[in-house]
Amino acid sequence: MPFLEFKNVEYSYVGGDDELIQALKSVSFSVERGEFVALVGCNGSGKSTLARLCNGLITPDSGEVLVDGVSTTSKSATFDIRKKIGIVFQNPDNQMVTTIVEDDVAFGPENLGLPRDEIRARVDWALSSVGMSEHAGSGPFRLSGGQKQRVAIAGVLAIKPELMILDEATGMLDPNGRREVLEIVKKLNRDENMAVIMITHFMEEAAAADRIIVLDKGSIAADGGKELFTTPEVFEQAGLDLPLYVRLAQRLNNIGLDVGCPLTADEFADAVAKAVKGGEGKK
Ligand code: ADP
Ligand code: MG
Repeated sequence: MPFLEFKNVEYSYVGGDDELIQALKSVSFSVERGEFVALVGCNGSGKSTLARLCNGLITPDSGEVLVDGVSTTSKSATFDIRKKIGIVFQNPDNQMVTTIVEDDVAFGPENLGLPRDEIRARVDWALSSVGMSEHAGSGPFRLSGGQKQRVAIAGVLAIKPELMILDEATGMLDPNGRREVLEIVKKLNRDENMAVIMITHFMEEAAAADRIIVLDKGSIAADGGKELFTTPEVFEQAGLDLPLYVRLAQRLNNIGLDVGCPLTADEFADAVAKAVKGGEGKK
């Protein structure tokens, strides 16, 4: 049984003048434990709606969302689902509820009614996982955007969810802050086997995932592994850029230097070195 499953999910909002805005159209996919999925799509493609459906903040108009086989509409399951799926949102300033970092991180486990020792252990572990232990006693206003977002991640981690959803959580960060957050998320996925859905419009982040889901106007336009980047049309049709190294490689491939489809700086350098050496051999 998959950890998370969407079956033909439809969702509409009622707009200002009572017209229906269809945000998701017959969306079906599933996520297994420990998977690292990137969800990409333009503004308004339905990404945040999908995120809110995952943990039952909203429920489908038709179709079903199942967490561990249990529908998010089942009243008795709501508490359980909030424990299993944590969401980190875009604006770190809206996510802090107290004035001291460690109190903020303790907020989730306190609401679960855990014993004091367990709360203490989880707060320490969560802060150390995101490299913020030394800021435990700080006020949030002293922190950078990247640091605040790391605290927000720690707050979700302290719940020990099986799936963490980051809804454009790096969107307001500078490139350094983005890199920090991505590294932490990759580590948690690897070391804690925590499943991740990283919602992002930074294609470099999408390239770090094992699987990419492309959302276009409320429908899934593509769902696959890194090989998706070898069919750039999929991304272009959904109005998305390609990762930098994919774009550079396309240019080299076009002028006859066959470098394939590297996704990172290292892969790109290796592919270019190989292609250049191979070319010399043929001369
Ligand atoms: P994304 O996160 O990809 O930008 P959203 O899920 O936020 O997309 O939005 C999908 C569609 O639903 C958009 O057309 C958006 O305008 C609409 N929408 C989102 N939230 C609301 C809301 N609270 N009321 C009305 N329409 C909404
Ligand atoms: Mg959104």
